[in-house]
Amino acid sequence: MTAELISGTDIRKEILAELKAEVEDMKAKTGKVPGLVTILVGSSPASISYVTLKVKTAISLGFHEIQDDQPDDISEADLLALIDKYNNDPDIHGILIQLPLPKHIDDKKVLNAINPDKDVDGFHPVNVGRLMIGGDEVLYPPCTPAGIQELIVRSGTETSGAEVVVVGRSNIVGKPIAIMMAQKGKGANSTVTIVHTRTKDLASHCKRADILIVAAGVPDLVKPEWIKPGSTVIDVGVNRVGMNEKTGKAILKGDVDFEAAKKICGKITPVPGGVGPMTITMLMKNTVRSAWKHIEGK
Ligand code: NAD
Repeated sequence: MTAELISGTDIRKEILAELKAEVEDMKAKTGKVPGLVTILVGSSPASISYVTLKVKTAISLGFHEIQDDQPDDISEADLLALIDKYNNDPDIHGILIQLPLPKHIDDKKVLNAINPDKDVDGFHPVNVGRLMIGGDEVLYPPCTPAGIQELIVRSGTETSGAEVVVVGRSNIVGKPIAIMMAQKGKGANSTVTIVHTRTKDLASHCKRADILIVAAGVPDLVKPEWIKPGSTVIDVGVNRVGMNEKTGKAILKGDVDFEAAKKICGKITPVPGGVGPMTITMLMKNTVRSAWKHIEGK
């Protein structure tokens, strides 16, 4: 038997269509649309390509979008002043700073200067704290974990009482998704184990997982014999393992041996086309949420 594929590409389309309709509804009811600013410092090609994708998606949804490009040598004080300007701009509901920043600027100081109510990335310590409390306290869940949860829910995977094993404990994926799956509520209520580089027997934990979420950044780390038959496998890893000579594009591989795993598990995300397309989608969802919050004054 071959596992059902959980397509992030298809689910992204579904969510973007829902968001587009919501933006039209917002415009009709309030005369306003979500406002998003993306601040790019310098000209790293990878950063430009990420920012371009975010800007294009925002525009396609009808957002008021500002791409604010700043030179490499902008001072920390000027960048902080720019953030302050957008913090106080009523037409802006989401502020994104593309990382990495140049060495002379303190990332943490800059990210912490964003008003938590406009921190649609969900990285501000206030939003991390709110995520930990859960329920109505959560303003903006971080985007990759939110995308993972959405894939789990929309693929019809039962989470209540499920054994979830998360491989990886980073601040942007492992820790937040573990917290989110353990919370009380829809798409959660799971029993969660976090495993990492110091875990004694990775295989024995993975074998118990009804839902296995792997975010290690190690190609083919998870072997087929570690997978519980019928389980749901979410492969977050994106590893460049070579170059396609014809297209000149990088060959990407996940953290799970996909070809072997799909013969054992019940559902699985591919790499690429699984978790990858979800991150920007959830960023847009957070921005729409922020716009409602600001427009309705909640
Ligand atoms: P990270 O390097 O910050 O964290 C990796 C975690 O995996 C660490 O906590 C480490 O303890 C654990 N780990 C590493 N090797 C391990 C091993 N052999 N056994 C057990 N645990 C191990 O990485 P990250 O930022 O969390 O990203 C993880 C992967 O997910 C990367 O491949 C990254 O490219 C990918 N990623 C994808 C998206 C997306 O698709 N949108 C977003 C974020 C990260």
